[in-house]
Amino acid sequence: MIGIFGGTFDPVHYGHLRSALEVKEIFGLTEIRLLPSAQPPHREQPAATALMRVRMLELAIKNQPGFVIDTRELDRAGQSYMVDTLESFRLEFPRQPLLLFIGSDAFKNLTTWHQWQQLFDYAHIVVMTRPGFKLQELDDYFTAKKANQIKELTQAPAGRLFFQPVTQLEISATAIREMIAEKHSPGFLLPEAVIEYIRQHALYEK
Ligand code: ATP
Repeated sequence: MIGIFGGTFDPVHYGHLRSALEVKEIFGLTEIRLLPSAQPPHREQPAATALMRVRMLELAIKNQPGFVIDTRELDRAGQSYMVDTLESFRLEFPRQPLLLFIGSDAFKNLTTWHQWQQLFDYAHIVVMTRPGFKLQELDDYFTAKKANQIKELTQAPAGRLFFQPVTQLEISATAIREMIAEKHSPGFLLPEAVIEYIRQHALYEK
């Protein structure tokens, strides 16, 4: 199985990295693809350039077996829609189960995503929840897709919905950018090599 973990990564931090590592181990993924987004349809533009966000990811995952940076959304011109991205993954991996990981906040808005129902044609969706998270009533569409065991995800290449608790560190890229703008240290929230890169390039400073 291949995992897809999308984000702006502006910058990547231990919140992302810890959950990526946990799901890689829990689902026995051969690869976890970190997928930096080009022009996020839902939000304002990133502060760092695409190249810089990729460079920070490279520094962060150096020597992490199975962690792969996937730049397909950056290589494509214009808006990135997840449904197009998953279609392109499916062409590359015709038979393997693909797991799209999203946070529970993103899941709440899933039905606003472009062609959201088609996402299930290409991948399973795994919602990363906080431990102890109480699942709200799912509507019939999602209830029909819900899998209760990981084994069910290995039995089809796409089409199921799964909820997986992961450790969620209280870290956000927004808070890190604000700290740096205020000349406070973001130490221990993200890898030292990434902090060093940010410093060298005077990223996120006012
Ligand atoms: P920003 O603060 O700029 O919105 P962010 O820190 O939330 O950024 P994104 O790059 O937008 O990071 O997040 C990408 C993915 O990582 C999302 O699926 C999100 O749910 C997940 N994620 C973000 N922060 C954490 C965290 N602290 N712990 C676990 N997952 C996280």
